[in-house]
Amino acid sequence: MNCPSQILASNSKGKADIMKTALEWKKYYSSPEFRNNYIYSGNDLGVSCTDSGTSFKLWSPSADSVTLNLYRDGNRGKAFFCVPLKREEAGVWHWSTAERLHGVYYDYILEIEGETVRSADPWAKACGLNGQRSMAVNLELTDPEGWDMDRAPEKPREQIIYELHVKEFSWDASGGFPEKYRGKYKAFTCTDTTLNNDGIHPTGIRYLKDLGVTHVQIMPAYDYGSVNEAGKDTEFNWGYDPVNYNVPEGSYSTDPEHGEVRIMEMKEMIQSLHAHGFRVIMDVVYNHTYSLDSWFQRTAPWYFYRVFDDGRISNGSACGNDVASEREMCAEYILESVLYWTEEYHIDGFRFDLMGLLDVDLMNRIRRALDDRYGKGEKLIFGEPWAAAETAMEGGAVPALKKNIALLDENIGMFCDDTRDAVKGSALKIKRPGFVNGAPGKEADIIQSARAWKGTGVKAPSQIITYVSAHDNQTLWDKLAETMPGAGAEERMRLNRMAAAVYMTCQGTLFFLSGEEFARTKNGMEDSYNAPIALNRLDWEQAWKNRDLVEYYRGLIALRLRLPGLCDKSADAAGRIGNEQKSEGLISFTVDNQPAGEYNKWDYLKIIYNSSGAARSVVVGEGEWEILCSGEDSWLWKKHVPAKKGMMIEPRSVLVLGRLAEREERTEKIWA
Ligand code: CA
Repeated sequence: MNCPSQILASNSKGKADIMKTALEWKKYYSSPEFRNNYIYSGNDLGVSCTDSGTSFKLWSPSADSVTLNLYRDGNRGKAFFCVPLKREEAGVWHWSTAERLHGVYYDYILEIEGETVRSADPWAKACGLNGQRSMAVNLELTDPEGWDMDRAPEKPREQIIYELHVKEFSWDASGGFPEKYRGKYKAFTCTDTTLNNDGIHPTGIRYLKDLGVTHVQIMPAYDYGSVNEAGKDTEFNWGYDPVNYNVPEGSYSTDPEHGEVRIMEMKEMIQSLHAHGFRVIMDVVYNHTYSLDSWFQRTAPWYFYRVFDDGRISNGSACGNDVASEREMCAEYILESVLYWTEEYHIDGFRFDLMGLLDVDLMNRIRRALDDRYGKGEKLIFGEPWAAAETAMEGGAVPALKKNIALLDENIGMFCDDTRDAVKGSALKIKRPGFVNGAPGKEADIIQSARAWKGTGVKAPSQIITYVSAHDNQTLWDKLAETMPGAGAEERMRLNRMAAAVYMTCQGTLFFLSGEEFARTKNGMEDSYNAPIALNRLDWEQAWKNRDLVEYYRGLIALRLRLPGLCDKSADAAGRIGNEQKSEGLISFTVDNQPAGEYNKWDYLKIIYNSSGAARSVVVGEGEWEILCSGEDSWLWKKHVPAKKGMMIEPRSVLVLGRLAEREERTEKIWA
C-alpha cells in the first residue's frame, strides 16, 4: 500500500470555505446525537505495547478514515509500514498486531470533512524529537533499576513545597554537577555535589535536604513546545506550553531522539527525590496547549477547545486557546492523564496552572479518584484559582476560581494571592508595598492570613497555599528592592527574614520559589519565562554567600514542623488563633499549640509581628515561656531562652514565644 504521509506535507487551505466553522463543530458536539453516540468510556486510548503485541486506539469521531504510519526514527525518514485503522464504537479507530513494536515511532493520517491531516497521538506515552511523532513504548522497559521498590516518603507532619525548574536547578557551573547532566533530569541523581566541587558546601539534593523542605514541585516537565530539543543547550523556557501531555519533556533528557530515554531519566529523577525524603509535585497545564494546531485539534476539530457564541476563540489563558475541560472526553482525558502520572511515574501531587479555567466538577472528580486509589488527601492537589481573561466555559459548568472555593473539595488548595499581597505587597503593582515593607492598614489582612482566610468561603487551611514568591512576578528580594529603594542590603535582608517569618507562621500549606531562601534575584524582571538561563538559573554561589538567610529559613522550617497549631489543616484550625491585637505596624495573637508531645513542648504560642521602625513592648502571659524565634535567630527554640516579662520586639521583626507544656505532656528525648 502506498503510504500517504508523503503527499500531505501541507494541508490544502483552499478547502476552508467548505469546512465546518468552529461554531458548527461546537453545535454538533453539544447535540444529543453526538453525546449519545461518541463518548468513549474505555481507558485504553493510545498505544498498549506489551510482550504479547501492540494495539493502537485513537478517538476521532469525525474522521472518514485513519491510517497508521510506522517509522524507524522519531523525526527522520519515511514510513516503513502503513495500515488503515478500523472504525469501532464511539468514534474509536483501532489496529493491533501480535508484533512487539516497542521503540517504533508512529503518526496518523486522517481524512476529516474532506481535508487530510497528519497528527501524532494525543494519548501518546512516548514520542520522538520535539514530540512530532509518537512512539510505541513497553513501559516496563523504561523502569530504572529498583523502580518497583520506589516509594514516596511518609507524609510529613507539614508539607513545605519548594518550586523548582529542572534546568534552573543544575545549570550553574558552581553547582558542581557533571557537565553532561547540567540542566537535565539526571542532575537529580547526583547526590554529593558541592560548590565548585570544593567537597565542603553541599549543593543540589543535599542542599535541599539540609534546608528541610518536604515537597519538590517540578515546573512543567511534560513535553512542551517552546524549546527546540535539538537546539542549543542554553535554550530556556519555563515550559507552560504543552505538546504531549503524557510524555516527559525531551530537552531535560540526555537523548531526546530516543523516546524511552526521557521516560527512564524522569523516573530516575523522581526515584532519587523519593530516596532522599522528598515528595514530588508536578506542575500541569491542562488549561491550554502550545498551539491551537494541536493533536487534539487535528484529530477532533474544536472538540477540545472553547469558542464564544459569536465565534471568537476563547482565550482565558492569554496563550491563544482554552481547553474545554467541561466536555466529557476532555474531562476524561485530563483525569486519566493525572492518574497516569501518579501510577506510572509515582507523582505525589499536582499544581494546576490557571485552575480557574478548569471546572469545579472536574477538579472534584480528580480529587475523589486520587482519594479512592491512594487514600484521602494522600496526593496533594492545588492550583491557581484565577484565569488571565474571560473564558467560554459551556453548559453551566462552574470555573474553579477563588470565588468558588466553597464548591471545591476541602483538599483542593489554591494559591492565596491575598496572603501574598498582604505580606509583601501586590505582585502586579510592583511599587506597592505590603505589611512588612511599610504599607499601612494591612493588619486585618495579616490576621486573616494567619487564619488561612477562614470565614471567606475557605473551608480549612488545606485549601490555602500560603506563599509570597513563585516563578511568576518578581522574586521576593527584587520586590523588596522595588518597594524599599532607600533600604541597604542589610535592611532588605531584615525585611526578607521578616516576610519569611510572617508567612511561615500563618496556617495553610507553605510554598516558596527555589532560591527565595538565599535572596534570589532576577534583576527585577517580572516575567522571566523565556529570559536567558544565565538569569534564571539557581546561583549556588549566592546560596552560600547568603548563608545567614538560608539558616534563618532552615530554622523556620524546622520550627514549623513542631508547631501543630500552625500545621493543623482541619476546619477547626482557625479556632486555635485568638487574642489578636493590632495597632499600626504591630500585630499579636496566640495559637493553641496542643497537643504537646514528642515533637512539641509548647502548648501555647504567642506570635508578634512588628513592621514599624521602633522597638515595641511585648506582654508575656502567665506560665513559663521561651523565645522560639526572633528577627535575627530562628533557632532560639533549640536554645532554651526564657522569655522575660516586659520584653521588647525589635523593629521590623517577628517574635515567636512558646509556653512550656506540663512536663508529663512532653517528651524531651529529642531535645537533649
Ligand atoms: Ca519538547
